[in-house]
Amino acid sequence: MTEQPDFRRYLVDIDSIKTHQQSTDYLVIGAGVAGLRAAIEASQHGSVTVLTKGSVEDSNTWNAQGGIASVLDKTDSYELHIADTLRTGCGLCEEKTVELVVHNGPALIRQLFDWGCAFDLVNGQIATTIEGGHSHPRIAHAHGDETGKIIAQTLIAKARQQRNITIIENFFSIDLLTVENKCLGVIGRHNEKEIRIIWALNTILATGGAGQLYRETTNPSVATADGLAMAYRAGATLQDLEFVQFHPTTLYIAGASRALITETLRGEGAVLRDIKGRAFMKDYNPAAELAPRDIVSRAILEQMLKTKSTNVFLDIRHFDKQHFNKRFPVISELCESFDIDITKDLIPVRPSAHYMVGGVKTDLAAKTEIENLYVCGEVSSTGLHGANRLGSNSLLEGLVFGKIAGQTPLANKTADFGKSIIQYKIPHSELRHLDMVDVRNSLRALMWRNVGITRKSLELRQATELIQFWQRYVMDKAFDNPQGWELQNMLTVCLLIGQSALGRKESRGTHYRSDFANTDDEHFKKHTEVKRV
Ligand SMILES: Cc1cc2nc3c(=O)[nH]c(=O)nc-3n(C[C@H](O)[C@H](O)[C@H](O)COP(=O)(O)OP(=O)(O)OC[C@H]3O[C@@H](n4cnc5c(N)ncnc54)[C@H](O)[C@@H]3O)c2cc1C
Repeated sequence: MTEQPDFRRYLVDIDSIKTHQQSTDYLVIGAGVAGLRAAIEASQHGSVTVLTKGSVEDSNTWNAQGGIASVLDKTDSYELHIADTLRTGCGLCEEKTVELVVHNGPALIRQLFDWGCAFDLVNGQIATTIEGGHSHPRIAHAHGDETGKIIAQTLIAKARQQRNITIIENFFSIDLLTVENKCLGVIGRHNEKEIRIIWALNTILATGGAGQLYRETTNPSVATADGLAMAYRAGATLQDLEFVQFHPTTLYIAGASRALITETLRGEGAVLRDIKGRAFMKDYNPAAELAPRDIVSRAILEQMLKTKSTNVFLDIRHFDKQHFNKRFPVISELCESFDIDITKDLIPVRPSAHYMVGGVKTDLAAKTEIENLYVCGEVSSTGLHGANRLGSNSLLEGLVFGKIAGQTPLANKTADFGKSIIQYKIPHSELRHLDMVDVRNSLRALMWRNVGITRKSLELRQATELIQFWQRYVMDKAFDNPQGWELQNMLTVCLLIGQSALGRKESRGTHYRSDFANTDDEHFKKHTEVKRV
C-alpha cells in the first residue's frame, strides 16, 4: 500500500452548527444504475435521500449503449460468463466477486424487465447479442442502442414511486463528513447557492466514473472523479487506479464531442480499416475485431502511428440499412447528423477514455474501511473487473452491488447528529491564483498524452511532477464553486493514477507500459492500493 501525503481533509470551511442541515436514514450520492438501485432497495428499510450533481439524466448510465451482460438463455452458463470475466481481468479479478455478480445477474435483469424496462425481445424472450471478450451472446439491450437510457428511466420511475425516496438534483457533494472513522453524511452545495449538510445513518457513494480526467472521453461532464477524491480525503483505500479502460471506437470529427460507437457493431460484423482502407485487426490479434477493448485500442493507436493519421475507420457498408436504423437508432442519427451515409461512407473513429476500472476498495457487502460508508457502481473497486472490464459487465455490477449496498441494515438507529460538531477552517493562502480553465484543459491533455493508452516511465514521471506543481497552487485555495472543487478533485485523482501507473512496472489488462511490455506475475499479480496518511 502506498501512503500519500496529506493535503487537506476538507475542501471547504465547515461549521456544522451554523450550516443549514437535514437528516436521512440512507444517503445515496449518485443517481446512475448503482445509486438508484441502492435507493430502491434501501427504501424498504428507511428514508432515503438521493443526490445528483446535475439532473437525474446526467450520468454514465444514461449514455450506455451496448447493453447489460448476463446468462439469459439455456445454451449459456454461469461458468462461461465467469470464465470470460476472469480471462479479461488478466489475473486480478476477485473470484468470489465475479461469482456473486454473475449468479445474481439474471434475476435482477428479469426484475428490471418486470419493473417495465423494455428490453428488446425475440419470441417473447429477452434478446441477446455478443460483444468482444464474450464467448456467448449474453448482452441484453433495450431500444437497440439506448439500453442505458431505458434502464435509467425505469429506475428513476421506480424510485419516484417510493414515498420515502427524495431525489435532490443539482446538489454538488463536496465532502464526506467523518468523525473517528465513521461516516456521518455529506456537505455540499444545492442549486449553486446554499451550502448544506445532510446527516445520514448509512451513506452510499455511487458517483460513477472519471472519464473527464482525459481530453478524449466518452463520459458526460459530471464524470470528474469527485467520489474517488471524496473517499480518499475521508481515509478510504483506493485500489487499482492505473487501470483505465479506453474505448476503441468513438466518433472522431474534430470539434464534435466524442460520441461512442458501440462495440456491438463489431460484434455484429463491422470491420476496422486504416486510412488506406486495409482491415488491420488480424495483424494484432487472431480474434481481430472481437479482441478485448485494450487490445483493439492499442492496435488502433499503433495503426494510426504507422499510417500517420488521426483516426481509423469503422466499415459497416455491408450492413442492412433498415436493420441498422432500427437496431442502432442513436448511432444512426449521429451518422446522419454528420452526413455520413453508412451504405457508402466509412465512420471515422479513434479511442477515448471510457471506464474507470479501479476505485474505492469494497468487500462483498459493498463496505469500505470507513464505518457506515458503502460504495457501489463505477466508483467502487469490488474486484469484479480485475485489470480490465469485460464489456457490459458494469451496468450489471451497478445493479448487483447497488442492491447489496441498499439492503445493508441501518447503522445505529438512535444516532443523535446534533452532537456531531465538525469545525474546519482553511488557512488563507498567499500563493498566486492560476487560470483554472487553463489548468483543467492542460491537465486533461497531459493525462491523454502521458498517462493514456500506452505509458512509459519518463512520461509518467513528467506527468506526476507537473500535476504536483499545479497542486501547489490549486489545492491550497478555498473555492466556493464546483469548477474549483472539481479541479481539486481531478488533480487529486490524476496524481494517484499517475503514481499507480508508475508503480506497476509491467503490462496487464488496460495498463500498458511500453518500457515493461510483459506481464510480471511474480511481482505484480496483486492490487495497487493508495491511502491518505
Ligand atoms: C457512452 C458510454 C457507453 C457505455 N456503454 C455501456 C454498456 O453498453 N454496458 C455497460 O455495462 N456499461 C456501459 N458503460 C459504462 C456504464 O454506463 C457505467 O459504468 C455505469 O453506468 C456507471 O453507473 P454508476 O451508477 O456507477 O454511475 P453513473 O451512471 O455515472 O452515475 C453517477 C451519478 O453520480 C452523480 N455524481 C457524480 N459526482 C457527484 C457529486 N460530486 N455530487 C453529487 N452527485 C454526483 C452523477 O450526477 C450521477 O447521478 C458506458 C459508459 C459510457 C460513458
